[in-house]
Amino acid sequence: GDKYQERIAVLDRYEKKEKKRQADNLELIASENYTSAAIMEACGSILTNKYAEGYPGKRYYGGCEYVDMVESYGIELVKKLFDAEHANIQPHSGSQANMAVYLAVLKPGDIVLGMDLSSGGHLTHGHPLNFSGLSYNFIPYSVDKNSECLDYDIIRALAHKHKPKMIVAGASSYSRIINFATLRQIADEVSAYLFVDMAHIAGLVAAKLHPSPVPYADFVTSTTHKTLRGPRGGFILCKEKYRSIIDRALFPGTQGGPLMHIIAGKALCFEEALTPEFAVYQNQVIKNAKALMNSLKEEGFRVVSNDTDNHLFMIDVFHTAKLTGSEAEKILDSAYITCNKNAIPFDTLPPNKASGIRLGSPALTTRGLKEDDFVLIGKIIADLLKNPQDKKVLSKYRKAVRGITKKFPWPLKQ
Ligand code: PLP
Repeated sequence: GDKYQERIAVLDRYEKKEKKRQADNLELIASENYTSAAIMEACGSILTNKYAEGYPGKRYYGGCEYVDMVESYGIELVKKLFDAEHANIQPHSGSQANMAVYLAVLKPGDIVLGMDLSSGGHLTHGHPLNFSGLSYNFIPYSVDKNSECLDYDIIRALAHKHKPKMIVAGASSYSRIINFATLRQIADEVSAYLFVDMAHIAGLVAAKLHPSPVPYADFVTSTTHKTLRGPRGGFILCKEKYRSIIDRALFPGTQGGPLMHIIAGKALCFEEALTPEFAVYQNQVIKNAKALMNSLKEEGFRVVSNDTDNHLFMIDVFHTAKLTGSEAEKILDSAYITCNKNAIPFDTLPPNKASGIRLGSPALTTRGLKEDDFVLIGKIIADLLKNPQDKKVLSKYRKAVRGITKKFPWPLKQ
């Protein structure tokens, strides 16, 4: 009826604007991507109406026979994708997946090693303002000051000194391969659990382009919306022996009813990730990140750790362009290039300014851009950051950016 049309129209106005922004801008936020039309449809489906507390076959509500099938299907697919013994695909987000892992095996006050935020760790790896840092006694480990890479001797020394109950690995802004086998050894030396949060690299792990943490870690969590290109959400993988403590920690430990529409979207995401095309995509993601990085290096920008092995990297704009990360983010935004300011290791600026920006290739690779396009984007970014006040430069590149996004249209059916 009219009322429906009115209500939808209000939302439509904003959604259309956002859709246009997503179509017209160059998306370089490393944690974002464009999902398929099928996933979008699942997430907007009537499955949102269903309460299904519990797990397939053991629900606290009637009428769950079909959502049971959806969830069981998703669980089987993700287990196959990552060769895992057990999977829980109910976490509403990456943070909730992590919360459940901590709740499963830690007590408040327990000692945990986690990567510090400026080295690349996530808020849920022990930030003092996050539930993780508030509940547990996190000891942060940093990257090596010179190489800006993980130094496993530093982690080993901290582990032997503090005897943590758990070692957390995984990152939001770390561009290098993480050695899970060595972390397992360190964890074993001090009888700690090893927990790997592979949120950023899950797509690369699925495509076997980054070593998998699954054989080594007691618990693995991930988001589904980054390189994995699914709906916003999370999941947990673990050994069979941890099945019941993980499932209980998630529900009823930290969540109520699962989001069945999102779980359907996750199942489709896992299906897509099992196809050969997905591996081709991830391979291109890595090639594109490297092309963008080399292009910026040629223009004189310092890359944190000097290289990337994955889908992202950071440039130190403070020391190479005398801009804060926040200023750089705004300059690029004004030319329709979207990225985010990011702390760099041992950053001397506060996080709301930061010395770096983080750049990632997953979203634009989904749109079909290749190495040459990323080289060109690197030149555009460099010129914009070197000439922040120049209106002519800005207007030239606004046009150039619109040209690129027109050439590579929105990857969904309209
Ligand atoms: N873990 C890592 C390593 C992340 O980078 C992120 C997201 O940025 C998360 C967890 C949290 O995911 P969410 O935003 O879904 O809570």
